[in-house]
Amino acid sequence: MRERLPDRRRAATAALLSVAALSACGDRERSEPPSVASVRFVLPLGGTPGRDWVVNNYVDRGPGSGVRDYQGGRKTYDRHRGTDLDLPNFRWMDRGFPVLAAAAGQVTAVHDGEFDRSVSCGFLGLLKQPNLVELTHAGGTRSLYLHLRRGSVRVSLGQTVAARQPLGEVGSSGCSTAPHLHFEVLSPDGAVVDPFEPNLWTDPPPYEPALTLMDFVVKDGAITGEDELKDPPANAARISPAGTLGIGLSLAGGSPGDRIHVRLEGAAQPELVAEIQDEPPHSYWFWNLPAPRHRGTRRITIHAGGRLLARHELR
Ligand SMILES: [Zn+2]
Repeated sequence: MRERLPDRRRAATAALLSVAALSACGDRERSEPPSVASVRFVLPLGGTPGRDWVVNNYVDRGPGSGVRDYQGGRKTYDRHRGTDLDLPNFRWMDRGFPVLAAAAGQVTAVHDGEFDRSVSCGFLGLLKQPNLVELTHAGGTRSLYLHLRRGSVRVSLGQTVAARQPLGEVGSSGCSTAPHLHFEVLSPDGAVVDPFEPNLWTDPPPYEPALTLMDFVVKDGAITGEDELKDPPANAARISPAGTLGIGLSLAGGSPGDRIHVRLEGAAQPELVAEIQDEPPHSYWFWNLPAPRHRGTRRITIHAGGRLLARHELR
């Protein structure tokens, strides 16, 4: 039998922003950071950063068309006004992943009801309205929570909320390519503030999270592309004989040379390796292989650094 080469793709997600978010972009290149001294932020998502979610894009602090995040790196894109916190995939969105108020405040804008499963911004995408909540904090600083899941917004205009109070759930509404939260901070005079300015987070997420498996996909059939990795079917427990086994990963973090190994009992190609080549905060990988031909239970295991991360049994 001819052995097929694995089909592998890796691409960092690119989360985009709303029209509302673009409209005041010119304000962001001030030399003095605006005063937001009275506010400190807790993380707007629960769970563990770098495992349950990962920061995929920071605020762009580069002048003109230059791109620079708060560490001088390139984990952003031109004119990005907020911080994008990516979930592993739509499975995680479907379980309901709460978005939390980053500080106490009052609800000053709410929108809900928009389609929440976007995987591309598309034609006229910047005109697509996201589901959102805006809070105004003491002193007039505002925080925005964009791309929320449809029907998930659970606060109303004028309501007072406490820090960590759930506002809604992560989604992919508006101009968005994957389920994520766009968290944006505005000073009292409307200028973009990078929440990674010193002393704004009480507990900032790591800039360089270790390579971590966030989720994996096992499919009876070929994985057709990155969009399917974002929105995968439930993991298969059986693979059709002489069919195709699709395997996918949603990874957070890592440095060049870091590897994750996928081992397949009984397969013609018993090990697949995802090796990080640059520093993508969030990467998707997939392979399509001939299904293992012999009968009986076979195991798929995923390891990094000699440590077992996940195991899946196939019949
Ligand atoms: Zn964003």
